[in-house]
Amino acid sequence: MGLAIADRWFETKRIDDAITLLWEPHVIRLMRCNIWHVRGRDRDLIIDTGMGIVSLREAMAPLIDKAATAVATHTHADHIGSHHEFDECAAHRLEAPWLERPSPETHLVTMDDSGNPGAGMSIAGYEIGDSLITALPHAGYSLKSYHIRPARVTLRLEEGSIIDLGDRRFEVLHLPGHSPGSIGLFEAATGTFFSGDAIYDGQLIDELPHSDVADYIRTMERLRALPVTVVHGGHCPSFGRERLIALCDVYLTAKRVR
Ligand SMILES: [Zn+2]
Ligand SMILES: [Zn+2]
Repeated sequence: MGLAIADRWFETKRIDDAITLLWEPHVIRLMRCNIWHVRGRDRDLIIDTGMGIVSLREAMAPLIDKAATAVATHTHADHIGSHHEFDECAAHRLEAPWLERPSPETHLVTMDDSGNPGAGMSIAGYEIGDSLITALPHAGYSLKSYHIRPARVTLRLEEGSIIDLGDRRFEVLHLPGHSPGSIGLFEAATGTFFSGDAIYDGQLIDELPHSDVADYIRTMERLRALPVTVVHGGHCPSFGRERLIALCDVYLTAKRVR
């Protein structure tokens, strides 16, 4: 396929004193998830872990200086690839089994339903080429060697669970629709909201095998009323309350409930 070798695999952007964003620029846009690190007083929080193509733990080493909990907002492949590198993993109880036994069907070389090369495929308007990556992480990397490794779930979450970092408290909101156990993490004291794939500022996906539009509509009604100051999504740039409401309304209008 003649892919070039990437200079580095992760890009990093400091959002504020405590929050850092990492992403994989050489993963196709559909699968390029936002990976968040939140520094707490007693514990750090990692929200989603990307594709697991190279070590996230190593890339995050300069950031992590204490115990860390790696939360999965849900268990699509692009969000859970490096959870196995962390001792403490958390997911909604409906998604925990997928973190512990990830689908063996995730490949970097794309195939359509008939097993033919998937070039030309698209999902929800996202073009997919013949591979999920646009550069190799290092010389000699074999695309066929890729698989998602299982992680041990040490904390099963549900609506109302609290993740306490000592100086920051995040409440788990169960936000089904995109997937059955999708969650968001909301810090009421600051209005900071990590939303996973429940909402982000891009084309949302509700047509996967485990998606549920009726659930998604209820999730959007709930999100619309959430008193956020900033939303850090599972993909795309962060945004504020006004944009959150607008994005909810776009979805709700498209589904003809508003
Ligand atoms: Zn997803
Ligand atoms: Zn995603």
